[in-house]
Amino acid sequence: MSSSNSPFKAIIVGGGPIGLAAAHALHLADIDFVVLERRPAIFEDRGASLIVHPHTLRVLHQFGILDELLPRGAELKHHLSFTADGHVFSEGNRYRLIRENHGHGPVAFHRAELIEIMYNGLPKPAKEKILTDKKLTSITTTQDGVTATCADGSVFHGSIVIGADGVYSRTRQVMRNLALKENSTRPWDPPHPYTATYQLIYGSFPSPSPAGQGYDTQSKGKSIMYFSGPERGWFFLYKRLARPTSDRTNYTEKEIDALAAEFAEFPLTKTVKVKDVWPRMLGAGLTNLDEGIAKHWSFGRIVLVGDACHKMTTHLGLGFNHGIQDVVVLCNSLRKALQAAPDRMGPDTEALTGLFEKYQAVRMSSVCSLEGDVLKSGLETRLHAWHNVWSYLLSWYLLALNVVENLFMRFVMAPEFRKGQVLDYVTREERMKGKISWIYPMSYQAKKED
Ligand SMILES: Cc1cc2nc3c(=O)[nH]c(=O)nc-3n(C[C@H](O)[C@H](O)[C@H](O)COP(=O)(O)OP(=O)(O)OC[C@H]3O[C@@H](n4cnc5c(N)ncnc54)[C@H](O)[C@@H]3O)c2cc1C
Repeated sequence: MSSSNSPFKAIIVGGGPIGLAAAHALHLADIDFVVLERRPAIFEDRGASLIVHPHTLRVLHQFGILDELLPRGAELKHHLSFTADGHVFSEGNRYRLIRENHGHGPVAFHRAELIEIMYNGLPKPAKEKILTDKKLTSITTTQDGVTATCADGSVFHGSIVIGADGVYSRTRQVMRNLALKENSTRPWDPPHPYTATYQLIYGSFPSPSPAGQGYDTQSKGKSIMYFSGPERGWFFLYKRLARPTSDRTNYTEKEIDALAAEFAEFPLTKTVKVKDVWPRMLGAGLTNLDEGIAKHWSFGRIVLVGDACHKMTTHLGLGFNHGIQDVVVLCNSLRKALQAAPDRMGPDTEALTGLFEKYQAVRMSSVCSLEGDVLKSGLETRLHAWHNVWSYLLSWYLLALNVVENLFMRFVMAPEFRKGQVLDYVTREERMKGKISWIYPMSYQAKKED
């Protein structure tokens, strides 16, 4: 068991993008950690992209990986909206406006490459704390620590567990069991707190068009998003499900092929259709597009970050970006609490419980844009798939107008982006400088540290 005078240590469950972000943030805070990842390797190429927005680029700069990352992605520059028969009904300015407002446009990365750069950007001693083939099965907690057990029988002792294990989080399940074991009548989230109304095929292929395009195709019940990078293109084919579901669905290759065939004639660009890239796929998957925010993000010494506690549709490309914000808010307060703690064991259970509850309260408040972004992402999904007559009218007649898009980006999106928080203990030069100031400036002290 964790001995009563062991130094503070975090057990991060999950070595996905948010688990790795937590590793960076804890390393920079000089807080000990271990990452337990169930897969045999950290990099696994399943074909998806990740769009990274400028407020997140600031945090990645604090991790020291921005210059390595930027040349590997494509800044989005051009936006078109098509109908299923290839008619262009809107040419938008959204990417240019984001650049003007916040100093950089959104950047499309190959997800596997982003994860690889995040991992490689950690110094050797931190990398050595990232363990693969470690599938969390159970957690026990005591008054002064936690013990995590993996499927291979290995056991890890620490002070807290940070569950970054994704949408079907085992940490979230274990936490729920512990909470209900203590009091079976207390209200708690269901085992799967999200609901999907759409399903999605994602995939990548050698890019058939110049880098920097971010296009969408809209039709009744089905829509597409397409992004082009320096080497690859990525598409996202969305279809409304017959009915919303919270069930976990595993799809077969045959189902993926059959669904992709329904989109064969849909345009990705003015000259490329889905059927043109489908024979050249480099990777593809089909998943339900879960949406929702868990009500309970922590219990005692266990806390959740990333998709484990919130999930939004992919239309605004914000899920990863919000996971990064979780890590920033959590690690800023954790570091302060550790500095204020009387000994190296860190805060006691009661203080940690309070800290985790406050972290959730901040993330759910208007200080952050999480709640609104889950709603806006879901709305965008429904607008593109003409979910009902209002979605169709809004998307086709109102939002296609540049003047409306300009107002939306300036008065709806920009105030949310500028709320992006940064690690308050890492000094770096501000690289994202646009017309709109950040609420949380980088604490850059030019020559002080040299
Ligand atoms: C197709 C698609 C496109 C997307 N595009 C964007 C985008 O453009 N921009 C954006 O911001 N977001 C996007 N998202 C959302 C984004 O991918 C997620 O928000 C992000 O990956 C969440 O990261 P995570 O680390 O919390 O979870 P995950 O990425 O799911 O990682 C969880 C990790 O935990 C591991 N794990 C699970 N269970 C266990 C266990 N029991 N023990 C140990 N390890 C375990 C898993 O193997 C995995 O490595 C997209 C999502 C999808 C599906």
